[in-house]
Amino acid sequence: MLTQNLGYPRIGSQRQLKKACEHYWAGKIDLTELNKVARTIKEQNWQTQLDAEIDLIPCNDFSFYDQVLDTSLLLGVIPQRYAPVLSQVKKNNEIDLYFAMARGYQKDGLDITAMEMTKWLDTNYHYIVPEFTANQEFKIFNENVFGEYNAARQLLGDKAKPVLIGPVSYLMLGKEKEQGFERIELIKKLVPVYIDIINRLQQQGATWIQLDEPCLALDLTRKEKETFDYAYRTIAKRVNGVKLLVATYFDALLDNTQLAVNLPVAALHIDLVRAANKLDEVLALIPDGLQLSLGLVDGRNVWKNDYQQSLGLLNKAVEKLGAARVIIAPSCSLLHSPIDLELEIDIDPEIRNWMAFAKQKLTEVSDIRKIATGSTELLEANKKAFESRQLSQKVHKQAVKDRITGIKEEDCRRKSAFPVRQLLHHERFNFPAFPTTTIGSFPQTNDIRELRAKFKKGDLSLEQYDQVIEQATVDAIRWQEEIGLDVLVHGEFERNDMVEYFGEQLDGFLFTKNGWVQSYGSRCVKPPVIFGDVSRPQNMTVRWSKFAAAQTDKPMKGMLTGPVTILQWSFVRNDQPRETTANQIAFAIRDEVLALEEAGIGIIQIDEAAIREGLPLRKAKHPHYLDWAVKAFRLTASGVQDQTQIHTHMCYSEFNNIIEHIAAMDADVITIETSRSQMELLQAFAHFDYPNEIGPGVYDIHSPRVPGTEEMAALLAKAAELLPARNLWVNPDCGLKTRKWPETKAALENMVAAARYAREQINVSSLI
Ligand code: GLN
Ligand code: ZN
Repeated sequence: MLTQNLGYPRIGSQRQLKKACEHYWAGKIDLTELNKVARTIKEQNWQTQLDAEIDLIPCNDFSFYDQVLDTSLLLGVIPQRYAPVLSQVKKNNEIDLYFAMARGYQKDGLDITAMEMTKWLDTNYHYIVPEFTANQEFKIFNENVFGEYNAARQLLGDKAKPVLIGPVSYLMLGKEKEQGFERIELIKKLVPVYIDIINRLQQQGATWIQLDEPCLALDLTRKEKETFDYAYRTIAKRVNGVKLLVATYFDALLDNTQLAVNLPVAALHIDLVRAANKLDEVLALIPDGLQLSLGLVDGRNVWKNDYQQSLGLLNKAVEKLGAARVIIAPSCSLLHSPIDLELEIDIDPEIRNWMAFAKQKLTEVSDIRKIATGSTELLEANKKAFESRQLSQKVHKQAVKDRITGIKEEDCRRKSAFPVRQLLHHERFNFPAFPTTTIGSFPQTNDIRELRAKFKKGDLSLEQYDQVIEQATVDAIRWQEEIGLDVLVHGEFERNDMVEYFGEQLDGFLFTKNGWVQSYGSRCVKPPVIFGDVSRPQNMTVRWSKFAAAQTDKPMKGMLTGPVTILQWSFVRNDQPRETTANQIAFAIRDEVLALEEAGIGIIQIDEAAIREGLPLRKAKHPHYLDWAVKAFRLTASGVQDQTQIHTHMCYSEFNNIIEHIAAMDADVITIETSRSQMELLQAFAHFDYPNEIGPGVYDIHSPRVPGTEEMAALLAKAAELLPARNLWVNPDCGLKTRKWPETKAALENMVAAARYAREQINVSSLI
């Protein structure tokens, strides 16, 4: 029985790669230095995997920015707009071109936009989307994959296994940049290049090559299925002496099982964390000779593997295939898990004993093999850890569980329907037409960040800290009054992050010191870990909202993060369904909503930035997800009186498939991102006849650019053509935390002017 790994985190256990890249971009280090950091990380990773007794160890899984962008460079898929940068590229030094594609290029009188970035399937990792044209050509452009294999081979010998993104998924994950062709049809031109790459690697000595085809776990059209078949049949005919392994992950193969098991390759990898119950189906269809890699160890979470359960799956496979045809592996690349639990010396040892990060997951992979061949000690220790987790009072709170089982339909419904509430809100707040507001945060200056760091270190007392935050809040309020915003916010100066801030105050969460995971490029995130039943020991935001409300006569909006977003941006429990955890968080936030209301806050925003990204990969699973996600939001929002106005915010703009569910959330006001698409994305709302109030963002906060009054007024006019003007709010796209004050002030002044202009120009029918 072999063990293998599909990919290892490349950021370095102390985020060395992030720091090195950022220094390189800032011109503080040169390419030699940057390469040195990269080489050290790679060699350490390989050594770690060697030490853990992994038989097939990935190489070419390293990336300076993103593995899909690496593939584009490898295949020469370089958009035309980079031609001026390309012409400066020296042989074997494509890194500046590469970074230009990732981050844009503003130098030497050039101003070239970056390539688009999007989420890697259902993860929080973002990849750079390949851009294809009708006459797209492919050729081996960048040689890194061969160099990296050579380096790996020196250390690992035959164990070195190059990883490539498979040709079909590569095409599917890209997009057409012009009309008149389908990117999938480029396969005919692409396959010969893959054949060359594979043959070169084989000549260098590679015995195994991994081709990642995550799209095999998606809903596929007939044409896409045929493309898989065509691609691998063609490759199989032209390569020799090397075993190809097709890796799928993140979901079950379902109706693609037949297709996948019959691809003419040496081995297929399946994700048995996401689809443990589909092993039988795969085993039933697997043809003679195909090896099966079992993704037993969860690459997407931080929990210890349940050896008992893994053993059950493994035994089943061995029984059917024989040990020689079975490979033990993590479910997917370990890119998505934090690196090393050993660095987390502050975590409660009882809880730590239930956890495993990437490095520990490698050991689990080889432990499973040891257990399968007779080691009982490891199994016993693992059982004990699971028992302790199952029984621990740190995890299980009966009162929280009882509350969840007792959820009633009316807990998830506002007292009156929206039209009744809307009248009450207008009576209470006396809003003008086109009321203006912001999404919550104001610029977090370096001063504020340094202040928080000092406070955390203990160099500052709570009083000292609060005093500065209070002053920042008061200043922001005075300033919002001056420019004439209608609904004010306190500015969120006291918050580090919209999830962490709540997680730190809720029971059932823990935080790591070094649990970084790559989000995109040099950006890493450190998600909280939800380990136990979630409850709210005390008020979380009332202190700051009350303080802020007392500074002004204008309405002050309370600001909370919603249950689905907290869930989505954390590592969650795997011992209960996601929806149960969502409901627990929902109750905690609901109590906070009620506490804010009690404190006199009449408008409360519950941000659900991540509802859309929680959508499962397979369409058949969407209804169930949307159902519980919407319900969790409604549970959070529905305890209040009719007079209280509930807002929600979503920082994306794709609502087409989910608009009815967004409407079902029944927030009184929703603010969304639309400015970059010139309000085009409001079509979904217009088409659906969205009933409640809506604030389509009139300016893009992701850039320092200050939009003019006319520009924003024109967007408002456009929105008013699509939706009833009386339902429209005026606000930016998202929170202003990442902006600087000068541009924020200028932009918001213009925005208020645009709203005033709209009030004069656009006829707003009355509510009654
Ligand atoms: N209220 C949050 C803020 O303004 C919302 C952030 C977000 O949607 N990502 O920062
Ligand atoms: Zn947002």
